[in-house]
Amino acid sequence: MGKTKIYENYPCWIMLISNLVSIAIYLAGAFIIYHLGLVWLGLYILYILLLEIMVMKKSCVNCHYYGRCCAFGKGKLSSLFFKKGSPNKFARRKITWKHIIPDFLVSIIPLIAGIILLMLEFNWLILLSVILIVILTSFGNSFVRGSLACKYCKQRELGCPAEQLFSKNKK
Ligand code: SF4
Repeated sequence: MGKTKIYENYPCWIMLISNLVSIAIYLAGAFIIYHLGLVWLGLYILYILLLEIMVMKKSCVNCHYYGRCCAFGKGKLSSLFFKKGSPNKFARRKITWKHIIPDFLVSIIPLIAGIILLMLEFNWLILLSVILIVILTSFGNSFVRGSLACKYCKQRELGCPAEQLFSKNKK
């Protein structure tokens, strides 16, 4: 069997699909939270922005793809705002499920809100948003990781604690 291809810069179509999955989750989540009120919507958007900034500031600066186009384009984006970190640090990080909780909350918060809203008053659009979040967070994200991002990733070869955590869980 041939060696899997590794991208030093991912093609635009992978960056597009990877980001579309995340953006669709954010939009569906924002649509549900909007029904709670504009203040909650503002807080939800702020939370997403903070998460994205923290990933670029804490992780992307130490990644092999800093300054390059990773599967999400964040390596390039990160290099525009933050100084390069230490590539050794990336593989040495300890990542457990506890560290992933803030990412999961982006989906879990609107899911809980959506279920409560549906119990109070049924709404087809909210139901569809809930279903979309469930599908994209489970199958969508695992497709992006398994078939588009991690599969061709140089950082995976160098050592990626997040990828190791997910693949350990699959076994
Ligand atoms: S292996 Fe996957 S999670 Fe790790 S840096 Fe590469 S794309 Fe990101």
